[in-house]
Amino acid sequence: MDMGPQQQYTQLTVPLLGPERSRITCPSCHAQVTTDVVLENNTNTHLFAVLLCLICFPCVFIPYCTDSCKSKNHYCPNCHAYIGTFKN
Ligand SMILES: [Zn+2]
Repeated sequence: MDMGPQQQYTQLTVPLLGPERSRITCPSCHAQVTTDVVLENNTNTHLFAVLLCLICFPCVFIPYCTDSCKSKNHYCPNCHAYIGTFKN
């Protein structure tokens, strides 16, 4: 069993997650589910906001309104387990 760094297509407990809802087997309840995606502000969102605040204050709200600045957290709709995060 090759356990090298190239695990892109191996079936591990952490599935491949994209920015959209993903069809996966839940590592927690082992059901075939389509994940719920919850957008959450991450550290980069706040850093970006601080940076914009220094440059142009009215722009400070942009990162909070932009999906690409947020983490996309996947949750199982069946058992509500946290599955993973997709980051841009
Ligand atoms: Zn589950």
